[in-house]
Amino acid sequence: LENFIFILLLVIVVIFKLFDLVLETLNKKARNREVPAIVSDIYDHENYEKMKRYYQDKAKLNFPFKWLSFILLVLFLGFNIIGYVAAFTQDVTNHIILETLVFFGIIMVIPFVLRVWQSYRLTFIVESKYGFNTSTKKQFVQDTVKRFFLNLLLGGGFIALIAFLYSATGTAFVVISFIVISFIMIMINLFYVKLFVPLFNTLTPLENKTLKAKIEALVQKEHYTIKHLYVMDASKRSKKVNAFFSGFFKTKTIVLFDTLIDALEDDEILAILAHEMAHDRHKDILKSMFTSFVQLFVLLGLFYLFLRVDYFFLAYQLDTFHLGLMMFIFMIVLNPLTLLLSIGFNYLSRKAEYKADCYAAKAVSKDAIIHALKVLSRKNYANLTPHEAYVFVHYSHPPVSHRIDFIKDECDGN
Ligand SMILES: [Zn+2]
Repeated sequence: LENFIFILLLVIVVIFKLFDLVLETLNKKARNREVPAIVSDIYDHENYEKMKRYYQDKAKLNFPFKWLSFILLVLFLGFNIIGYVAAFTQDVTNHIILETLVFFGIIMVIPFVLRVWQSYRLTFIVESKYGFNTSTKKQFVQDTVKRFFLNLLLGGGFIALIAFLYSATGTAFVVISFIVISFIMIMINLFYVKLFVPLFNTLTPLENKTLKAKIEALVQKEHYTIKHLYVMDASKRSKKVNAFFSGFFKTKTIVLFDTLIDALEDDEILAILAHEMAHDRHKDILKSMFTSFVQLFVLLGLFYLFLRVDYFFLAYQLDTFHLGLMMFIFMIVLNPLTLLLSIGFNYLSRKAEYKADCYAAKAVSKDAIIHALKVLSRKNYANLTPHEAYVFVHYSHPPVSHRIDFIKDECDGN
């Protein structure tokens, strides 16, 4: 059975790599499809070719990194490197929290370095070449250092917490962990904009007086109260355009990128704002939080059962239980389930996007939201012809042509 498990994990990793390759290839081929008529005015010919080259360059740059992390994982599993690392950490300490932290500390070093290197090359080679990047190398270093410590704090904190709960709660592990982790998730969602966004960006109240008056009129017409509305200085890193809604209860916040305000006309900004308001009106954040809780409970339950099966650590030639190793293997064994769950999440999210677009069409106008979506697509180099299978698996937002079709045919408003 140990041998079977050892091979099974490698098989899962390889199947997922193949699955990824198939989707990427389909999506790449779909880029040569004819552009749907409804979105044919987003790019002129020259920009459309440029957009395609952007994706080609990006794929070319990502290619070695993707293969390298795949090969690394296969080596880690196939040559039982994770088993050696686990045994080593057992020699160093027998304190369960330390042992787990040291284990992940060691195996995360190379992936972390790879990710920073990839992101550096992506930012200063591809994003710069196509005029998206506005950040400096100094800023990149600052961001990386901040992100490193944030990951260390949150990721390390999470691992330590699981190790602590595992050693301290016994059979109540699932229930107590569920309560503690749900509480932390709620806190992070509540204070995301207050706590995490300011580490990287500055939020300022909207200054443009005419726009502000129009927003107030819209909000009043919709009988809505915006708790917090901020403009974020996204332009210091990239010219890409976006907006988002975050938080619940008293921390509900709508954030508009400064690049969005520069790129759109006032009524288009209103349409985007109405779209974000709709996410609140439709309780989209609460719904997705609720689904995450269900998911968390199921995962914790499975994890608890998984930890009882000695064959998993025996498969990696350890003679005693190792929590870190078990967590690592669990994540791989769980890959098929995580994939299904994320497909489900994305499906629900796409449905919520259509509904939010309709709300914006009704509150402002169909033309305003449609035009806003077109400008956003042009400014962000949106792919107009993604493959259906790729969308089904990876897209949290529907392709822009589907969104515009839906607004025209299915939404009320004029
Ligand atoms: Zn949305």
